[in-house]
Amino acid sequence: MNFADLGLSEELLKAVEEAGYTEPTPIQAEAIPAVLMMKDLIGIAQTGTGKTASFVLPMIDVMASGRRRALMPRSLILEPTRELAAQVAENFEKYGKNHDLKMTLLIGGVQMGDQLKALNEGVDVLIATPGRLMDLFERGKILLSGCELLVIDEADRMLDMGFIPDIEFICEKLPENRQTMLFSATMPPVIKKLADKFLTNPKQIEVSRAASTNENITAFKINVEQRKKRETLEWLLNNDHVETAIVFSNKKTMVRQLNKDLQRSGFKSGEIHGDIDQNTRQKELARFKSGDINILVASDVAARGLDIKGVSHVFNFDTPWHPDDYVHRIGRTGRAGAKGRAFTFVTKADAEAIDNVEKLTKSKIDVFGKKDVRVELKEAPAKSENSRKPSKPRQSDDREDAGDKPKKPRKAREEKPEEAAAPAKPRKEKPAKAAKSEPRKKRSREDDEPVAPGEWNGPQPGFLGVGFD
Ligand code: AMP
Repeated sequence: MNFADLGLSEELLKAVEEAGYTEPTPIQAEAIPAVLMMKDLIGIAQTGTGKTASFVLPMIDVMASGRRRALMPRSLILEPTRELAAQVAENFEKYGKNHDLKMTLLIGGVQMGDQLKALNEGVDVLIATPGRLMDLFERGKILLSGCELLVIDEADRMLDMGFIPDIEFICEKLPENRQTMLFSATMPPVIKKLADKFLTNPKQIEVSRAASTNENITAFKINVEQRKKRETLEWLLNNDHVETAIVFSNKKTMVRQLNKDLQRSGFKSGEIHGDIDQNTRQKELARFKSGDINILVASDVAARGLDIKGVSHVFNFDTPWHPDDYVHRIGRTGRAGAKGRAFTFVTKADAEAIDNVEKLTKSKIDVFGKKDVRVELKEAPAKSENSRKPSKPRQSDDREDAGDKPKKPRKAREEKPEEAAAPAKPRKEKPAKAAKSEPRKKRSREDDEPVAPGEWNGPQPGFLGVGFD
């Protein structure tokens, strides 16, 4: 199957070729002909499957004929977050460069002036987040009665973010006789109901869930105490051949704290979460994409659907509360055929959450074990195969985390000094690729709990020979 078989125009085929795509992805192969035939569509798919092009490409051809009118966009794409909206807009620019189509991005957090001007001049494709769209609609700055085509993207995320009433309101303002496409990674009952209400005889396409089937992602869970999470993360960042990583936390406050801690430890990290204004979010993303920073600490809201090439690692610093978020988070790596590794930190309190993830993905996540560790695990501080330097003594941890309990003296298991702050074990250095950051300040969080064989037991290389089978 190639793109030419799907019924797209010559101009689009040229743009697709220039984008470097040789073969349509499964969702594109199924969706594109259906959209060109003006059918309604339900796509059960998540980012990483090529779903954006599956609606953007045929939409460009569908919209190619017709006249723009002031204040009345001809088509509407609803996205749950500003980043996703901006990403879809980039796709439009890339694929639509051989067409005379006007596209406008309507998102919060930026000045309204240019958006209003563009609406006044007439828009073929409007890409919007529900909040800003509702705002303009209520002020009478936009009319939806000329909108013949609607895309509701990431519907399950819209649900999580409380946008369903807005979506229903918007759907009701659109002409009944329109084409509607709905994309969602999962189909909870509310989304099913929404689809039943607003779509007519839709074609349903389901592509495999990346989290359960993407063989490019190697996923692990690590049983770790809350207070040892950061140390474990830093160890992995240093030792698991991390090139670029996204670290997810469930809380904005933790995103901020973690980013600060990582920077203090010498990592090149940045942060992205809902409390950061749009401009800063875009700048932070640009820094990450350009390699200025190689670690992005993120909350779910800000990071959903981000399409960043070459993310080698995803860390779930917190087990996500919603199992769907797990699917989305780890889908940030292993994209477009690349390999990726995903680590989920699991505390005792996360037992139910991780269970829900495994139920949803219908697979048990492997516990990170000795066989999976990428560095050479020798007791002696000899140079590893990866030519990492012999380790340096650690310093004590001077951070005063609100959530951290005071350090306890070690138990005798590893026969280490009693004081957590004492000069510590040998430690291996990170691989050369990730070593662009400043020298790290070493931290020490001593291990004091025995672990089950095969389970992670904290970050120190020394323990690895002890805690595993
Ligand atoms: P999406 O699922 O829309 O987020 O797309 C995921 C990634 O796949 C994006 O980086 C796209 O540029 C890329 N992509 C989309 N379609 C294709 C294709 N047919 N062949 C190769 N890569 C693609």
